[in-house]
Amino acid sequence: MKIICVARNYPLHAKEMGSEPPSQPLFFLKPSTAWAASGEIPYPLFTQQLEYEGELVFRIAKSGKSISPSDAMGWVDALTVGIDFTARDLQAKFKKEGLPWDMAKGFDNSAWWGAWLPIPPGWEALPFSLQKNGKTVQKGTGKEMIFPLPRLLSEASQYFSLEPGDVLFTGTPAGVGPISRGDILKAFWGEQVVGEVRII
Ligand code: MG
Repeated sequence: MKIICVARNYPLHAKEMGSEPPSQPLFFLKPSTAWAASGEIPYPLFTQQLEYEGELVFRIAKSGKSISPSDAMGWVDALTVGIDFTARDLQAKFKKEGLPWDMAKGFDNSAWWGAWLPIPPGWEALPFSLQKNGKTVQKGTGKEMIFPLPRLLSEASQYFSLEPGDVLFTGTPAGVGPISRGDILKAFWGEQVVGEVRII
């Protein structure tokens, strides 16, 4: 299982990161060991600035390579809301030095997602959100994405063959922020809680 992620796919998040919206999807990968299956996230020792990025996450249903945008929705069979945990201080340092981000993004427990749900018609217009300690900190819909899901799937599959069980994080809306030990993050699809994590 691999975890494919998209950087800067919401205009207001690109802005809050001081970046221009990209001209093509910018993908990065997390290894299978990044999956936080337990929902307990140990605060990593190598960062002073662990941040949450709440995102819509899709599950890849079948193998594919160079799929077209018009067929792409046939490659996903479930969605949920997840968190792309980021060591923001390391990422900022690596970006400044023009170095790869992997250590800031792909560490153990850096990818969590909630319970898988069927993809309803019109899902792009339905809100997802993230609460930190009971307060909503991020809210978005799929239709705000700079590159819509079929384009992401098509483009990702030009570079990385898709395999069943792979996971696609589709980018975070504005409102990313820091977390501390003891914080509880709760992910919502509409009004429905899909899961929660605790930082330990
Ligand atoms: Mg992200």
